[in-house]
Amino acid sequence: MENPEQIYDVIIIGAGISGLGAANHLKEQGYENVLILESQDRVGGRIYSQNLNDEVTVELGASWIHGIGPGANDIPEWRDKMNPLYELSTKYNIKTAKTFNDMYETDQQKIFWYKGGEMPSDIYPIVYESRSFYQQNCKETDEELSLHEFFKKFDFGPYQDDEKLKKSILGFDYESEYDGDLSQLSARQINNLQHFDGEERLFPLGYSQIPNALAKSLKINLNSKIQKIDYTRDIIDIQTTNNILYKTRKLIVTVPLAILASNVIEFTPLLPEKKIQSINRLGVGFFDKLIIQFEEVFWDEDIDWLTYISDSETSDWSISFNHYKYMKQPLLVMFNTYSSAIKFSLFNDEELISSALVALNIMYPKAKITRENIKAFKRSNWSTNEHIKMSYSFAKVGCSSADSEEIAKGVDNKVWFAGEHTVFEFLGTVTAAYISGLRAAQNILKEIERDPNQKLELSQ
Ligand SMILES: Cc1cc2nc3c(=O)[nH]c(=O)nc-3n(C[C@H](O)[C@H](O)[C@H](O)COP(=O)(O)OP(=O)(O)OC[C@H]3O[C@@H](n4cnc5c(N)ncnc54)[C@H](O)[C@@H]3O)c2cc1C
Repeated sequence: MENPEQIYDVIIIGAGISGLGAANHLKEQGYENVLILESQDRVGGRIYSQNLNDEVTVELGASWIHGIGPGANDIPEWRDKMNPLYELSTKYNIKTAKTFNDMYETDQQKIFWYKGGEMPSDIYPIVYESRSFYQQNCKETDEELSLHEFFKKFDFGPYQDDEKLKKSILGFDYESEYDGDLSQLSARQINNLQHFDGEERLFPLGYSQIPNALAKSLKINLNSKIQKIDYTRDIIDIQTTNNILYKTRKLIVTVPLAILASNVIEFTPLLPEKKIQSINRLGVGFFDKLIIQFEEVFWDEDIDWLTYISDSETSDWSISFNHYKYMKQPLLVMFNTYSSAIKFSLFNDEELISSALVALNIMYPKAKITRENIKAFKRSNWSTNEHIKMSYSFAKVGCSSADSEEIAKGVDNKVWFAGEHTVFEFLGTVTAAYISGLRAAQNILKEIERDPNQKLELSQ
């Protein structure tokens, strides 16, 4: 039973990597009177590893450390530093496995199309030229230009009049990476998104080992969905949907952007208008996986990505990762992004698998794959998860890094915000989320330092 008289020094809402990172930092600084409230029955949020069977662990959420470092696109703050997620994996002795160096720029991809098999080879130079075209022109582009508008000036050669095909070509480079729709992704701002240099690494035994390791020594109440936050007075009141009341002096809110935007949590007083506008300016992305274990590999063993140009309006099954290449298990991880993810979220499991099999049989007509060839599968459906409602944030036309900064800002020196949406340069990633949690914890410590009266109240 919760002691109704207990006043916490800091409460953190959400036990994703940002909330766990914040709580862990406070603990390392000697603060014990800290509590995490999490609405789900597990920690990790959008890091969610599951056992497919006794042999294989798969990721329904994040898979990769995007660049282990050192350094991140020459950002001075990160020069010579390793990705903090990689540091955590080393600290907790969690095994990682090397894949490629730059996820979407690897040339180990094969492009298939709806007419059957691999596309004519003239498509490859067009894809590479479209990337150079983007790099050369993105800085001059108008702030408000979407990628769809931006690429109107690009010459797709023999495919110039095929709108679906053009959308698919751009889809696997941009929609799959940033999980927004081409008509909403900001051509200028996605160029400001950074990643760490170095290898992209996976966790053979699951990414969830990281949140689980962090959670071990922290006080966390699961199944505690927050519906009201009243920060009118010095002591903040926090109420769950089961009407349990918690009290705290400082608060960090780490719920996903889609939860903030959908007003699941009622703030009293209302959040500042500027913050609400920034919340709505960032993009809420959709991205789902279907992970299939087959009896044996029927696809090209040595490629990283199978990209597929479908004839659907929604660019279905646009990209699949060849898990076999690195893990030696006959698994394909098939992705749907934005409009296809929204469409497939309404499909039941068998309908989803049927659609995937149709696409795979078009790509590899000789393989004649049927439902019987599937040993096991798992799917994600993040948009229908009431605690998350999205995959990760994207740089929508009209937004900028100022929006992430505005969302993170403290309100009345009492309530701070963290989460992947609050660190623009690494937007959407585990790295952004973890850094944001550390930053929110440090801001609270600075605030305590600034005002000695508060220091006395906090039990160290
Ligand atoms: C399919 C997919 C693939 C991805 N792949 C990668 C990848 O390869 N590499 C990478 O770096 N990133 C990847 N990401 C993104 C990454 O998973 C996220 O950016 C990161 O995990 C977000 O952490 P967070 O702490 O900000 O939010 P979350 O993990 O969402 O944590 C927020 C927590 O708040 C809880 N919550 C919500 N509402 C309430 C409430 N009312 N009361 C209490 N608790 C509440 C939620 O249950 C959740 O646990 C992927 C994401 C998805 C969905």
